[in-house]
Amino acid sequence: MKRIILHVDVNNAFLSWTALLLLKEGYKEDIRKLDAIIGGDEDKRRGVVLAKSTSAKKKGVVTGETLYNARKKCPNLQTFSPNYHFYQEMSNKLFTYLSSFTPDIEQFSIDECFLDYTHIKHLYGDELKFAYKIKDEIKEKLGFTVNVGIGNNKLCAKMASDFEKPDRVHTLYEEEIKTKMWLLAIEDLYGVGRKTAPKLRKIGINTIGDLANFDLSKISSIFKKQGLEMWRFSNGKDDSPVIPNETDNKCISNSTTLAKNILNRNEAYPVIMALAENVGLSLRQQKKYAYVIAIQIRDKYFHNYSHQKKLDNPTNLTSDIYNVAIKLFNDTWDEEPIRLIGLRLDKLTAVNPYQISLFEEVEEKEMDTSLQETIDILKNKYGSKIIRNAVTKESAIKKKYQK
Ligand SMILES: [Mg+2]
Repeated sequence: MKRIILHVDVNNAFLSWTALLLLKEGYKEDIRKLDAIIGGDEDKRRGVVLAKSTSAKKKGVVTGETLYNARKKCPNLQTFSPNYHFYQEMSNKLFTYLSSFTPDIEQFSIDECFLDYTHIKHLYGDELKFAYKIKDEIKEKLGFTVNVGIGNNKLCAKMASDFEKPDRVHTLYEEEIKTKMWLLAIEDLYGVGRKTAPKLRKIGINTIGDLANFDLSKISSIFKKQGLEMWRFSNGKDDSPVIPNETDNKCISNSTTLAKNILNRNEAYPVIMALAENVGLSLRQQKKYAYVIAIQIRDKYFHNYSHQKKLDNPTNLTSDIYNVAIKLFNDTWDEEPIRLIGLRLDKLTAVNPYQISLFEEVEEKEMDTSLQETIDILKNKYGSKIIRNAVTKESAIKKKYQK
């Protein structure tokens, strides 16, 4: 049975999401229609173009160039900073919407995902009609456009969504590979990077079809494992499954029915602290961050009420959870004797808010943290000597060969 895979890709995600945010905040113009870019901080070295509007693109502005260069090409250029928090919010909305059809969704990046349609076709019918339906509903409900690619595997679905943009549906079924994909430039093949493409052109491979029909043993001897992969892709071959991300719609909660009713704030605070520690620890064990913190109160008349706050940036820190919970408690409590207090963390995300930022410093810091974690695990398991031994050996080997 042939698989049916859909690839949903937000058109110009950062720019169109920023456009939506600006409109929401009362900005008069839709920056999608102007010479506009999303760019990093001008003063620092990360002052580069992250995304550009169609008209800026027409004037020659390219992603990755400096803001300075972009302005030379386009004097009226308007520059806006990225807002990753809002991007994550829009991303979540998109995946929540798509998850209403099937759990077989793999988030591929903040603005892209694969959806396995094979086993839900009997529910929703023809995949092409379904693709148009979701494309139009996303535009109508969420305010931005997407491309949807359909294929018999992930590679073909992804290649298809990249055909003409924006706001389009394309197919690249097995039988269409020769007619629709082989004529494309080799640079257009997924997985062929900026460094590899010139090497391929040097040996006479200019189109995807050229690669598909090239002698595999030659390609493999030049490009090794990557060569086989590229060659398989050029022939539209890809067996990788759609791997659903963990569902993050579960919440973490904990509550305490009190031995005796709480009558004043000072009695409530330590209870809230204990709950914050408890849910915070669960959250960190799951390696997640929470956007929503909620407090629940039940009074002695078994009357329940709750109050929640959505954070601008998700957190996994007990101190943050405690501080928000205390504020919620103080805003909510009507001073009736309390029987039960509960804390709930909701809208959990596995995406560390700092991971999606472009700040290298943070990435470096995270690398240090994960290295430290690995070392801790190894030390716990094998004793502290193992690390020292490995490090010593490695430097000894290096010394030997550096001479
Ligand atoms: Mg995209």
